[in-house]
Amino acid sequence: KERTFIAVKPDGVQRGLVSDIIKRFEQRGYKLVGLKLLVPSKELANEHYADLSSKPFFRGLVDYMTNGKAPVIGMVWEGPSVIKQGRVMLGATDPRAAGPGTIRGDYCLSIGRNICHGSDSAESAEKEIGLWFGGKGEI
Ligand code: ATP
Repeated sequence: KERTFIAVKPDGVQRGLVSDIIKRFEQRGYKLVGLKLLVPSKELANEHYADLSSKPFFRGLVDYMTNGKAPVIGMVWEGPSVIKQGRVMLGATDPRAAGPGTIRGDYCLSIGRNICHGSDSAESAEKEIGLWFGGKGEI
């Protein structure tokens, strides 16, 4: 069974968009198999975004995710092609390119405040679920 990691970032939580994002995945027919609210540690955010560590926005991104002004909602969703379709439902990383009907296309315009995250491959889904939900068997 295919699983992906979807997160509502602090801006999405602060803006009250959690229920809408969950509703979209439920309506599509996907199954929620893990959910937690947390302020991620720096260690967790650094590891989550390890691929971006050389980017100029990396420190700002990690600070934003971890400063505690609002928490993150981490979720695991399960179902057919959920990794690819989850990304389609979120819309383009840069909201200026995200189509209407997608989460980013409906709610935001700034790449630094793009509301949500979704795993981009089977490998990253496995890594991210392990990272955010801990050891084997927790979910
Ligand atoms: P995500 O992993 O959040 O779903 P993504 O995999 O589509 O996004 P990445 O290129 O991995 O895109 O970027 C991860 C996150 O880093 C983006 O969602 C965004 O919040 C932030 N980011 C990317 N590019 C920029 C930028 N130029 N300025 C500020 N933040 C950025």
